[in-house]
Amino acid sequence: MSSQREPDCLFCKIIEGQIPGDIVKKTDRITAFRDISPQAPTHILVIPNTHVASVSETSEDQVFSDVLGAARDIAREQNLSDYRLVVNNGAGAGQSVFHLHFHLLAGRPFSWPPG
Ligand code: 5GP
Ligand code: ZN
Repeated sequence: MSSQREPDCLFCKIIEGQIPGDIVKKTDRITAFRDISPQAPTHILVIPNTHVASVSETSEDQVFSDVLGAARDIAREQNLSDYRLVVNNGAGAGQSVFHLHFHLLAGRPFSWPPG
């Protein structure tokens, strides 16, 4: 897999260390860091190190395996049994940063259906 970055992308800059991030885990394929505006006691973003804008714009399925597997690993490492994984795809669904990311949320009850 390539490790291409997008120069104007906020999350690519966090991967590169150009913008500080509270990094939880970093591998050659993914970076995980704490959300700047946490919506739960644990709120971690898991992103691929290669720039892809969203779920619908991801052509390489390995990317999904990388970020989802990493989210599971982080939850295990942090002894989280109950958690929610969220991916917003498109502005209308709440996506505000267009570098694919899974939200890993834990530490409080979650209602269903989501808002
Ligand atoms: P989205 O709305 O695209 O699903 O999620 C984007 C997330 O990125 C939001 O939860 C937002 O709080 C977070 N975020 C935006 N800017 C920054 C930043 O500079 N640093 C960190 N750590 N998180 C950010
Ligand atoms: Zn990016």
